[in-house]
Amino acid sequence: MRWSLAYIPTLRETPAEAETVSHRLMLRAGLIRKLSAGTYSYLPMGMRVLLKVTRIIREEMTRAGALEVLLPALQPADLWKRSGRWEKMGPEMVRFKDRHGKEMVLGPTHEEVITQLIAGELRSYRDLPKTLFQIQTKFRDEARPRFGVIRSCEFLMKDAYSFDRNEAGLNVNYDRMYDTYLRIFSRCGLEAIPVEADTGVMGGDDSHEFMVLSKNGEDTVVRCSGCPYAASKDRAAKQGVGDSCPKCGKPLQQLPAIEVGHIFKLGTKYTEALDANFLDEDGKQKPFIMGCYGIGVSRILPAVIETHQDEAGIRWPVSIAPYQAVIVPINPPAREAAEWLHREALEAGLEVLLDDREVSGGVKMKDADLVGFPIRILLSEKTLQKESVEFKLRTEAEPTLLKTSEVVSRLKKLLAQQNGA
Ligand code: ATP
Ligand code: MG
Repeated sequence: MRWSLAYIPTLRETPAEAETVSHRLMLRAGLIRKLSAGTYSYLPMGMRVLLKVTRIIREEMTRAGALEVLLPALQPADLWKRSGRWEKMGPEMVRFKDRHGKEMVLGPTHEEVITQLIAGELRSYRDLPKTLFQIQTKFRDEARPRFGVIRSCEFLMKDAYSFDRNEAGLNVNYDRMYDTYLRIFSRCGLEAIPVEADTGVMGGDDSHEFMVLSKNGEDTVVRCSGCPYAASKDRAAKQGVGDSCPKCGKPLQQLPAIEVGHIFKLGTKYTEALDANFLDEDGKQKPFIMGCYGIGVSRILPAVIETHQDEAGIRWPVSIAPYQAVIVPINPPAREAAEWLHREALEAGLEVLLDDREVSGGVKMKDADLVGFPIRILLSEKTLQKESVEFKLRTEAEPTLLKTSEVVSRLKKLLAQQNGA
């Protein structure tokens, strides 16, 4: 790809409305633009990152045996009345009447819809277990949309739902999703800490949130300094946990964090309410035992940026970077070699961006750092004399000199290593 043909509207100024570093950088690097409070458009660079994140999620969910579906965002209010959540969801739920006066909802989550769906489809214990997932836009009229796409009113979620015959089956599925979540977050470059959590409006009896420590997090993780115990602050408060660990007695720390995922053992809350039963081996009708599993797909972007940036801009992990490398010819004589390198890299199947703009080297380097490509390949008159390029990782201060003919093989090797998660 050529920068001159791309659409990467970087901003020099810090947008006044942005309170957090990730929000500022998402605007400045040209990843998103605001439409209104809590709604954002993704520009091409932001979209490329989003697509990479969803690809990782699809791969890992599929590896775990989950099957992808797509459910309607537009839902009848009746269903929510039957589950008892029509009242419980409160003003966060987007409600309206259609032209016939029928009450409708824009889905904030999909337990009701999926339960209603499988009630007519899965009939026997032989059909179980099943885990279905989707990646879809959710609508929540948040009281305080803020921090850009960290808390917005329309956002992309991966939601999954498991259906089992019994508790033992649910436990297997729950543990598998727990492991899958750790793999997904780690492949996105995030260190997510699973913490014991409250079930809240979702219901059910067991739940974990996946938290990324960050000073701009709206949540608080209570973590033990001596053992693996970790809980959300709400959960710890509900359990009457004080300053010392309930497991080992060592002091507890409180750390701000961003919630990127949440998994629940729902049991039969929704299947009983919505009459979703199957015929078990003993000839009896029983409600399915359910689990549900959410990831804030769009929230992953700011969570990664919060934890991968410096004063110059974003430092994308290779796995979700919009392009793996940027090729920067500094002055006209370097252009031909840069074009050649660009062609070679594309032929090798690499995702590289050639900065062919008629702007100064300084502007190119600033933009490359701001948008945060993991690798920068700089060509100038000086490097050309040595038939070389300056090869620099975004995370390193100094470049190394590398023969131009060796760049593609070095890139391939490096990317294979870093994508090998
Ligand atoms: P929160 O406590 O942050 O409001 P939640 O408990 O309401 O989250 P869930 O219903 O569990 O969230 O949704 C699954 C995931 O969707 C969350 O873990 C979070 O990453 C993401 N998410 C929830 N609300 C938003 C939002 N308004 N904007 C962006 N992502 C969100
Ligand atoms: Mg919420």
